[in-house]
Amino acid sequence: MEEVLTNPRAGFYINRDVFGAEGDFITSPEVSQMFGEMIGVWVMCLWEQMGQPQRVNLIELGPGRGTLVADLLRGASKFKKFIESLHVHLVECSPTLQKLQHQNLKCIDQDNAAESAERRTVSSLAGTPVSWHATLEQVPSGSPTIIIAHEFFDALPIHQFQKVSRGWCEKMVDVAEDSLFRFVLSSQPTPATLYLLKRFKWAANEEIAKLSQIEVCPKAMELTQTIAKRISSDGGGALIIDYGLNGVVSDSLQAIRKHKFVDILDNPGSADLSAYVDFASIRHSAEEASGDVSVHGPITQSQLIGSLGINFRVETLLQNCSDEQADSLKSGYWRLVGDGEAPFWEGPDDSVPIGMGTRYLAMAIVNKKQGVPVPFQ
Ligand code: SAH
Repeated sequence: MEEVLTNPRAGFYINRDVFGAEGDFITSPEVSQMFGEMIGVWVMCLWEQMGQPQRVNLIELGPGRGTLVADLLRGASKFKKFIESLHVHLVECSPTLQKLQHQNLKCIDQDNAAESAERRTVSSLAGTPVSWHATLEQVPSGSPTIIIAHEFFDALPIHQFQKVSRGWCEKMVDVAEDSLFRFVLSSQPTPATLYLLKRFKWAANEEIAKLSQIEVCPKAMELTQTIAKRISSDGGGALIIDYGLNGVVSDSLQAIRKHKFVDILDNPGSADLSAYVDFASIRHSAEEASGDVSVHGPITQSQLIGSLGINFRVETLLQNCSDEQADSLKSGYWRLVGDGEAPFWEGPDDSVPIGMGTRYLAMAIVNKKQGVPVPFQ
């Protein structure tokens, strides 16, 4: 899964822009500017709770086209003290997407020879310095930190296990005689079994007993530990939004190409692979990594951005827009917070906006000093 998505030569994310109507799938920041704006409200509220620090590392994991941060900076640009505290760090493995993020954040590369030999890059949207990194570990620590991960965890590689008469076996990918890929079951314990055993410890016996398949995501556990430790040493918090469950995930790995589900093993690297996020495992990993952090949620995306004020925002935007923009605002609003098909839709049946407000979940990990973050109280 990791190779298929991030292999430096042939990985799905590496050489192309996969987002939007022309691409393979669409995400919330691409649906409406209101999404990034609402995340901006959350970040600003946390910054207030942190005591308005003068310098904050705002880290986004897997920023895609950079739309979320662009909308956040535009939306918050009037709040000078907040905006001036930010240093944006984008954790992105794809050189193509890094370029797109540079463009969409309207970045300017400045020669800053006086201070150091390095170039400084600043987003002209709000005068904010921006840096890129391949991993979270590479982001310098030592300043209060706010981390956003939207649809990042679902791209981390999972391991699938199946229960058979000889016990739990890992599903592996094999090459068949006709040179095509196929799934086989391991004949003996694999290294990922350690993570399966760890996951079992966090689950009730009844939860496991009813399952014949289980997915575990060691990378998600490790990343959560890194996040928790960073927040414990630097202060601040993280917001994780993704589709998933608040418990063990059984069998969710999926492949999407051009907005359609396709076979997982078909033409690897040409379709997005993703899996449901196991939020319970994130909670346990964070709590295990540090006693200084508290974990909140998951709540639904609809609860999150509803409480952050999306209703007020959509009303304001609707007061001053064309008919076409109004239609797009209403359907965008529904897709972000609604549940199922939009009841107000009058257009063609095949383009009815589908609400994702309850399918997406949000979880916060914060330094205990910060108290309970909004709107998780
Ligand atoms: N957050 C964006 C994009 C989500 S897609 C949005 O909501 O629109 C996943 C993003 O994570 C892409 O930018 C992809 O290139 C990046 N990514 C995936 N795996 C990664 C990894 N292991 N390390 C760094 N970036 C990764």
